[in-house]
Amino acid sequence: MRIDYRAEIKRLKEKLDVTVVAHYYQRDEVFEMADVTGDSLELARRCKADKNPWVVFAGVGFMGQSVKVIAPQKRVLMPKIACCAMARMIDGSSFEESVAYLVKHGIAKEHILPITYINSDASVKAKVGKMGGMVCTSSNAYKIIEKGLESGKKILFVPDRCLGQNFAHSMGLKSCVIGVGECDPKEADVICFNGFCSVHQLFTVEDVAFYRNKYPGIKIAVHPECDTSVVKIADFVGSTSQLITYVNALDPEQKVAVGTEYNLVHRMREKNTYVLSSTKPECPTMNETTLEDLYVTLKSIEDGNPINEIVVDPHTIKYANLALERMLAIK
Ligand code: SF4
Repeated sequence: MRIDYRAEIKRLKEKLDVTVVAHYYQRDEVFEMADVTGDSLELARRCKADKNPWVVFAGVGFMGQSVKVIAPQKRVLMPKIACCAMARMIDGSSFEESVAYLVKHGIAKEHILPITYINSDASVKAKVGKMGGMVCTSSNAYKIIEKGLESGKKILFVPDRCLGQNFAHSMGLKSCVIGVGECDPKEADVICFNGFCSVHQLFTVEDVAFYRNKYPGIKIAVHPECDTSVVKIADFVGSTSQLITYVNALDPEQKVAVGTEYNLVHRMREKNTYVLSSTKPECPTMNETTLEDLYVTLKSIEDGNPINEIVVDPHTIKYANLALERMLAIK
């Protein structure tokens, strides 16, 4: 017998004390079933405030972990334990190696302030928290780096080199990337780990030129995970939520090409909105989650045998939470 996933998901949501959460980059059919939608930080915050003990999170692994770190009492399940490619580029030992690189180049460990993008594993956030560092998102990276610099320390920014370099550039700071060309930590304010988002790397300077030639007057709006060469020539740079606000505020006749994940751009507004790429920029891991996965996960709660539960050990929770709370304390 064929299961009507939509009907079954609705029934299970009514029966169970569960909140279904979906990130903006999820497929439309999954996104439409969610009680709460948003970007990674917004989602973790709203889950914490939510009364339901169960969270089913359609997103990638670090997002489910962030809920568990902020609200350890919650039972967090993921329809697919999909991993963000960028988050996967760094682990605890490569973080330690990056710290060692700075130390080798004459920066004492106590003079290093690590900042990790929220797109990182809880173990990396915990290392950062233990060293007195903070988490940042693409919405608040400017403020967090600014606050970090007040300490007079060197900023070690992980894992996204683009985010680190783009914000350093916009603040008039010097930056370098470990392992790329000459990276002398003594000469830089922000020293970046060499991680990146494979999806946002798809947008190029040539794509910008193509749209500007084809539609004179078009606006180019991009996410700060895009390459520095693209960010420098864009009309607007902003996080997922900021991009949505920017595009919605444009005159309906104003054309705009947006450099971020396909599912989000496709949902933004019907008219005069283009994806800034000749290649469909879909996040493969975000796209793994299907309606069937969502149904099976909810059903596992009903059956008393929950699957794909996010488990983070108490030590990691303690220090990762420190890094997250330091960020949340900065208004
Ligand atoms: Fe990670 Fe990039 Fe996918 Fe976002 S779009 S989840 S940064 S791989």
